[in-house]
Formats: sequence, C-alpha cells, structure tokens
Amino acid sequence: MSFLDYIRLQYRKWQLKKKRQTVVIRGSCQMCGQCCRGICISVGGKWLKRERAFVKAATEDTSLLRFKIFGKTEEGYLKFSCTSLNENGTCSDYENRPQLCRSFPAPSIFMQFGELPKGCGFRMSTEIDFEQVLKEAMDNKEEISAGHIPD
Ligand code: SF4
Ligand code: SF4
Repeated sequence: MSFLDYIRLQYRKWQLKKKRQTVVIRGSCQMCGQCCRGICISVGGKWLKRERAFVKAATEDTSLLRFKIFGKTEEGYLKFSCTSLNENGTCSDYENRPQLCRSFPAPSIFMQFGELPKGCGFRMSTEIDFEQVLKEAMDNKEEISAGHIPD
C-alpha cells in the first residue's frame, strides 16, 4: 500500500470512528455476473497496478491464475477478466472460486475507495454503529447510572 493510500485509509477509518459509523452492506445477489467482469484485484490491501505484482500474487495463490489482464482503469489499476465466467454470467467453478469472490462484496471495498458494479443487487452505505454505541454506554457507568428508572 502506498503512503498516500495508507493515509487515505486511516482518514476514512478516523471519519467513521468519529461519526460512530460502520459500513453496512445490504441486498442480495442477482447473479448478473457484473462483478466477474472488469475486475480489479487487491492483494495485501493494495490494488494491483503492475503485471509483475500479479504474477507474484498468482505464484503464491494459484487460484488467481484464472484471471487474465485485459487493460487498465483510468487510474492505472489492472483490469482482469475471468476464464471461469460462463456466458450466462454464472461461475463454472463456483465450488473452487477464490476467496476474493467468496467475500464479495466486503466493507473493505468502501475502505479502499472502491465501488460496486453498476446494477449490482447489493448496496453499500455507512450507518451508526449501534454495537459500538452500546459498548460505549456499557463502559460508561456514569451514563448508565444517570438513567431514569420509573417507579
Ligand atoms: S454484481 Fe452484484 S448482483 Fe451481480 S453477480 Fe456480482 S454480487 Fe451478484
Ligand atoms: S471465479 Fe467465478 S465467481 Fe470468481 S470472478 Fe470468476 S466467474 Fe466470478
């Protein structure tokens, strides 16, 4: 991860923490196959920009060999197509799909300033982190003891 990306990530984390928010993903998969086309791949928290980095990653995780580079995004990130994608948008190797496919869509997409594909049945938003708010309230005994208990 470049220093600039690291700073951006930390700033986004800080913003969420300050607002007591968390990333929420809702919706369901419509099996359109859009997320399997024009894929950008992140390895170790860093979106791949160079073929050399991809070759190294695929040596360590051979499940990545199914991906083929076919271009770059405007920002210079490598774009991949997947040889396991059927014409009807389904996966021909669903049982053995790589971890990045299993965990899609993950909150890390938001944290790394990525987006969901157009038309995806999922949506990403930030909402109040009620778990965190509750934890803070539980930790703050004064706040709890100040509560009004009706007779
Ligand atoms: S883009 Fe979204 S709706 Fe389409 S296959 Fe991928 S996860 Fe499912
Ligand atoms: S392995 Fe399957 S789920 Fe993953 S990108 Fe390829 S077609 Fe899609």
